[in-house]
Amino acid sequence: MPTIGLPILTLAVKSQRYSCHGCGNCCHDFTVQLREDDLKKLKNQGWEEKLGEPITVEFKGTRYLRQRENGACIFLSDEGLCKIHAEYGFEEKPIACQFFPFSLSPIEGQVAMGINFACQSVLENKGADLASHIKDLKRMAGRVEEIVPGSRPPMLTRNLRATSREIKSLIRNLDMWLKRSELDLATRLDGLVFITSSLRKAKLENVRDERFGELLEVLFGALPGELEFQPVKEPTSRQRKMLRQAVFTRTEDPKLSGIEKSGRLGIIFSQLSRSRRFARGVGNAPKIGEGWAENVSLAGVEDIKPATDADTVAAIDDLMTRWLRATILGGRAWGSGYYGWPAVEGLQAMLLNVAVVGWLSRLHAAGRGLECVDLEAVRAAVGRVDRTSGRALWLGSAAERMRLGYLQIDDGLRRLVYLWQ
Ligand code: SF4
Repeated sequence: MPTIGLPILTLAVKSQRYSCHGCGNCCHDFTVQLREDDLKKLKNQGWEEKLGEPITVEFKGTRYLRQRENGACIFLSDEGLCKIHAEYGFEEKPIACQFFPFSLSPIEGQVAMGINFACQSVLENKGADLASHIKDLKRMAGRVEEIVPGSRPPMLTRNLRATSREIKSLIRNLDMWLKRSELDLATRLDGLVFITSSLRKAKLENVRDERFGELLEVLFGALPGELEFQPVKEPTSRQRKMLRQAVFTRTEDPKLSGIEKSGRLGIIFSQLSRSRRFARGVGNAPKIGEGWAENVSLAGVEDIKPATDADTVAAIDDLMTRWLRATILGGRAWGSGYYGWPAVEGLQAMLLNVAVVGWLSRLHAAGRGLECVDLEAVRAAVGRVDRTSGRALWLGSAAERMRLGYLQIDDGLRRLVYLWQ
């Protein structure tokens, strides 16, 4: 078996753990993209003849594993097991299924391990040390030629390619700030919005390389004190509406089998009308959780209170910090890990995800009839947001970039992140 020649860096979030506990969540509502190799394997295994139905679906020239009406993978058995795994073994499954919840991003002659928080064990921080997975990742990566050594650093802004020193400095400073556990989560998040929006406004072409590192030191050095001089205002109704639109785009998961049935146009029209209602905040919320109350009103979501119990607040802080650090260190905030986006815009998208998690955790609490957010509600929200992040094509679109552009005006992003923590 060939093995990848590059070192794979264990994700430097030491407290993060993972082992698969077989909950089957990743076998529902995940669009699994298939490579040529996967298609050949599945064909040789003769599944279409065995199951008597198509096993893949095509969308925009790419083939995906087909799902059932309820979103379950076509290969998920009634016992909750993968039929390919059961009959042919782990290594015969599509490579995307083997890799999950890990991802790999090339970073200057090395490969960074990333991890997806859509996995229940990752969310709950259960299992083995991440370093113990390196051997398996190396074996799997040896079969994926897209992992290329020495790829160029990502863009810093739309017009400037970052130097490797700039990217390293950005990652180091962001991570050090997120680890400042003596500061509460709301302050660290507010600081991140301050940094990214300052970088977006700055003329970065005048501060390259070493000077960019100095700029970061000045900006981070001004925190948290600077935040006090710039009190956060309430979001405007337009900014709130934009947040609800952003939530909608992260909760909609159009099934490819639905596209097969209703056609792309049908899906687009029904999505558009649901999106409008959601953005206006009227009517009932979609039932996106198990055992939810009927008729959870969208308007009521914003009345749900944040958690106040000290243990819950600490557990939510731990989850959010692990998630954001893993996103940045694992190469999932920009570049090849996020639709090829420049670092500054990618960071803003990550922060919009944070505001969405704040809103969505209130929806999950409301769905379960609670008056305030609990850890389970935040886990559900982070899992849902991270499932789409970097994968759903519409989140990498011009519309999403435009939304972030609008939220740059009047401190929109800052107001939304601050309000929903
Ligand atoms: S979601 Fe995570 S724990 Fe659950 S089956 Fe998938 S990999 Fe395993």
